[in-house]
Amino acid sequence: MDVKVLGAANEVGRSGFLVNCNGTKLLLDYGVMFGKRGSPPEYPLHVKPKDIDAIIITHAHLDHSGNVPSLFVSGNTDVYATPPTFDLSKMLIEDMLKIEKNAHPFGLPEVNNMMKNAKEIGFKQKVTKGNATFEFRESGHVIGGSTVLVESEKKRLFYTGDIKTNGSRMLREMDMDIGEIDLLITESTYAKTEQIPRKESETQLIEFANEVMDRKGILFIPSFSVERSQEMACILRSANFKHKIIMDGMALKVNEIMFKHPEYLRDPKIFSEAIKSSTAIREHAERKRAMGEPCVVISPAGMLVGGNAVYYLQQLSFNNKNGIALVSYQGEGTPGKKLLDTGKVSTRGKDLKVQAEVKQFQFSGHADKKELFDMIKKVKGNPKVWTVHGDSESCDMFAQEIHEKFGFETYAPAVNDEITI
Ligand SMILES: [Zn+2]
Ligand SMILES: [Zn+2]
Repeated sequence: MDVKVLGAANEVGRSGFLVNCNGTKLLLDYGVMFGKRGSPPEYPLHVKPKDIDAIIITHAHLDHSGNVPSLFVSGNTDVYATPPTFDLSKMLIEDMLKIEKNAHPFGLPEVNNMMKNAKEIGFKQKVTKGNATFEFRESGHVIGGSTVLVESEKKRLFYTGDIKTNGSRMLREMDMDIGEIDLLITESTYAKTEQIPRKESETQLIEFANEVMDRKGILFIPSFSVERSQEMACILRSANFKHKIIMDGMALKVNEIMFKHPEYLRDPKIFSEAIKSSTAIREHAERKRAMGEPCVVISPAGMLVGGNAVYYLQQLSFNNKNGIALVSYQGEGTPGKKLLDTGKVSTRGKDLKVQAEVKQFQFSGHADKKELFDMIKKVKGNPKVWTVHGDSESCDMFAQEIHEKFGFETYAPAVNDEITI
């Protein structure tokens, strides 16, 4: 089995790995990396669609799925993912094409062509393609999110995609009952960082929400539409939060997709109760009306880039009764990061000091350092290890520590690197 790195080497973004199983070629993920400050998006190394026997998408996030349609300009390769991954990928890719018009070498026809070639498979459902057999396992990272096991000629590769080993309120923990492996490709996003336990973050958020309600304010929770928004609603409802919860934007579409796939959730009942008891905003006129009393507003974008977040910021930022809870990762150069660092937001070209109380809470969808090492501890066999999907320092440090603690031959590969197992 030969494996080649096409992307996500010493960076978070544009994941892609080409696996050659004695002539049968599988592509694991094919994502995008969004350009920084107006520069164009970047992609994994080019592959010819006719040279690929199957495309396997671990999960819907665009750094893993966003460039798959580029293989469908003329191609008709089978593409495998779980049902929620297909639904969410389609939604996220279409949204990306809407926001970044003409930035990508494909459009809606290619997305449709990709969906025509979609082969839905569930966890632990083995597929044989030529000389290769592969299956998905639960990753705990996002709904429908998977890790991949590939087997060929008695060699076994395990690719983590993105993982949250403990899962979350929405998702079951990662499945590590995978047997002996010969190559591990692991994500390294938070390989240097320890996060506070989820339970503590939840308690802090609930306290903040109650404080804001007690002073008759409105709490704005800008949040990623895929799952973080739903998780916030579930946390509040599970804590018997008595006030209205408003949900807005693309989070509503995600609610529908999640309702379609209850078997992929840890606790479909809590999810259903939380979402059904919340108030959905369908049109602009409802927005202002809905905020007539103390309540929580959950709306994308998580980093306050565009969309309804701009409206809510304008409405809620300049009243000291209100609160803003940042619960998503805040990338450099985003309005969310600026708010955190300076306490200011830009409205109509001016930077204004925010009066509302701003707090940040840790809710990561990625395994932290401790969880990553817990995962490595469960690895069986004596695999070679590649550390990818992290900044270069994280990938290097993680590789070094894995080698020191477990003796596995480990390194952080570069794009174009190949390995034979
Ligand atoms: Zn992800
Ligand atoms: Zn990722």
